[in-house]
Amino acid sequence: MAGRFAPSPSGPLHFGSLIAAVGSYLIAKSRHTEWLVRIEDIDPPREVTGASDLILRQLEAFGLHWDSEVSYQSQQLDHYAEIIEQLKSQGLVYACNCTRKKIKSLSKTGYYPNICAAKKLSFNGEVAIRLRHGEADYSFVDQIQGPCQFEDSLYAEDFAIRRKDGLIAYQLAVVVDDIEQGIDHVVRGCDLLDSTPRQLRLYEVLKGKAPDWYHLPLAINPDGNKLSKQNHAPAIDSQQASKMLCHALEFLGQPIPSELQQEKPAVILDYALSHFQMSQIPANQQILYLA
Ligand code: GLU
Repeated sequence: MAGRFAPSPSGPLHFGSLIAAVGSYLIAKSRHTEWLVRIEDIDPPREVTGASDLILRQLEAFGLHWDSEVSYQSQQLDHYAEIIEQLKSQGLVYACNCTRKKIKSLSKTGYYPNICAAKKLSFNGEVAIRLRHGEADYSFVDQIQGPCQFEDSLYAEDFAIRRKDGLIAYQLAVVVDDIEQGIDHVVRGCDLLDSTPRQLRLYEVLKGKAPDWYHLPLAINPDGNKLSKQNHAPAIDSQQASKMLCHALEFLGQPIPSELQQEKPAVILDYALSHFQMSQIPANQQILYLA
């Protein structure tokens, strides 16, 4: 049993990703499980050179020490390909040669209308591989956000598990790894809330036990955009680790008394853990954060 923090190395940690790191650390420790770090480096076009190492150094500076070795998804590509072969032999996937433009022109909702499902296209060449949707509605109860239900078109979409450019889709890699690493609870930002039904479909076909889900509120800026690397959120400054850690803990409803705020990150984290109250994490999907 374990929890994990699974950053993509598309840049250094920013305040939004620090929240996911701190939240997943506290929840794993409060559940008395290991806390693993997994680098999700399967999207080379989005990867920034040196970001993986930088993220690990930032975590260390914040006193967020992981258990077991760091894992890298880029080292699992053959394994993901094997899983895809297995799904092919079970008839659970099909090839799709639709372009993004075509999908856009065919679909009002933005969801793929499953038009290649009956075509039996060859898997060779530039095709996406899509997983046939299941029958369940894949609604779930989130430990922070409560009951979560999505529009039917999300459940009915045969989503891609390998992209047309040949890259493995995040959905597949994340579930394969979470099952194999014994992840029994997933803590991450609410931006991934609507990926969860897709992942539940993958748990079903891969015969894994679904984890407990904890979706943390997203920090948004005054324009309503989430703090993200794409929105140029500033990297967190490891020189100000104690201060930023206190901000992240405050955001998660776990305030640190002012007399402790100048202490080293390890002391602050110890206090946060021994006073951790799950029920105080705000059940909001978004919270305005003014840096
Ligand atoms: N790698 C994903 C990200 O950085 C997070 C994956 C997850 O926690 O499920 O957004």
